[in-house]
Amino acid sequence: MYYLDEKLEPILVEVIRRNAGEEVFHQAVREVLESLGRVVAKHPDYLDEALIERICEPERQIIFRVPWVDDTGQVRINRGFRVQFNSALGPYKGGVRLHPSVNVGIIKFLGFEQVFKNALTGLPIGGGKGGSDFNPRGRSNGEIMRFCQSFMTELSRHIGEYIDVPAGDIGVGGREIGYMFGQFKRLTNRYEAGVLTGKGLAYGGSRARKEATGYGATYFVERMLATKGQSFDGKRAVVSGSGNVAIYTMDKITSFGGRIVACSDSGGYVVDEGGIDVALVKEIKEVRRERISQYARLKGNGARYVEKGSIWDVPCDVAMPSATQNELTGKDAKTLVRNGVIAVGEGANMPTTPEGVRIFQEAGVLFAPGKAANAGGVATSALEMQQNASRDSWSFEQTETRLAAIMANIHDACAETADEYGAPGDYVLGANIAGFVRVAEAMRSLGVI
Ligand code: NAP
Repeated sequence: MYYLDEKLEPILVEVIRRNAGEEVFHQAVREVLESLGRVVAKHPDYLDEALIERICEPERQIIFRVPWVDDTGQVRINRGFRVQFNSALGPYKGGVRLHPSVNVGIIKFLGFEQVFKNALTGLPIGGGKGGSDFNPRGRSNGEIMRFCQSFMTELSRHIGEYIDVPAGDIGVGGREIGYMFGQFKRLTNRYEAGVLTGKGLAYGGSRARKEATGYGATYFVERMLATKGQSFDGKRAVVSGSGNVAIYTMDKITSFGGRIVACSDSGGYVVDEGGIDVALVKEIKEVRRERISQYARLKGNGARYVEKGSIWDVPCDVAMPSATQNELTGKDAKTLVRNGVIAVGEGANMPTTPEGVRIFQEAGVLFAPGKAANAGGVATSALEMQQNASRDSWSFEQTETRLAAIMANIHDACAETADEYGAPGDYVLGANIAGFVRVAEAMRSLGVI
């Protein structure tokens, strides 16, 4: 179904040559380029001005040493990254990931996706991403704080309310953002609240930011289901992960009348046919910071933990992969289709492999790509920046109402763009083209920079 237009092939070849070994970045670029054949057929001028090549090359990549001292007094070294990908629409904006798998290729893939996602929100934010190969698992609160302080000591040179505004991602929630903001404030002697988002409510955070990615993804999928006369009400849903995105996706789906039957972490998954008790997951993950296996033990009542195997073996109507990249393979997609899935919404970034996407689309499954479906988090971060700039604080309802409207707009922009380019119902194509055109038009206006 998707193919790479021959005019775009040399661009991908050059990206692969220049970013050798960064497979997930190549995958993310290929996926966007495969959608752009129809755009360059209509507008060959995008090729003449090398706009696509420029979009594939980050404006700036920063790699730095992060030394810190563990609780036993031993000095530890991690590597920090910040990729400032594109600032045509506004300051670079995108999260920080702390996970042992992090390398420059992962940060570049996430930064690249972020450029298009941020464009889709319609808000004035460019794209960037950062992180470190630091593993927070099993680290004490003091160790987390010392790591975050050291990370920010270097990062602080490169960020600012009008320059680059980081936020959370895997391994970075309210606690870590607090430590990073504290260190930034101390180093700069400025209360520049808009330099980070995902802050706590006590010091400039936005209501509904914590919930925004999961809520937003659910709003997107609810609207996508509505195009087929369907809704979450009465549906079985499986949500992978049990972190920030997964928890608030489960929360919203439940409030829409859906029943979550399984969720997971990197150790395994739990199945609870009676409906996952989201409050219990919050207690285990947000308060106790324990493994999801505890859920089966604490809940009892038929809930079971499966240590090996794939969560996608659990039959469902709606699947929401919300853990990490490439977690839903072609084999998983076949199983889901066989079990009657009708919609898939990506809460995580690029969680479905290209083969998985193809299988869903060929089977006529509604498929919402992450760069559209999970854009509610960054959109609400931009609302947090607005509140900081105007020294204001909105109510939960006001913020969630804005979020819901933004998600409806993103959904409709993707659907309309897919129609316009002759691929009705193809949200992947719609998201890639709508995001690309907005960024490309801004870049064109700014000259060759
Ligand atoms: P999080 O709170 O750290 O939760 C991540 C969840 O995914 C955890 O349950 C984790 O399990 C699981 N996970 C992580 N790596 C895994 C792996 N290699 N295999 C299996 N499971 C894994 O992170 P999050 O903020 O929810 O982010 C989840 C996804 O959403 C990421 O793709 C992120 O880029 C994307 N996203 C996040 C936001 C946001 O606002 N936070 C916005 C847009 C997109 P363990 O605890 O066992 O590691």
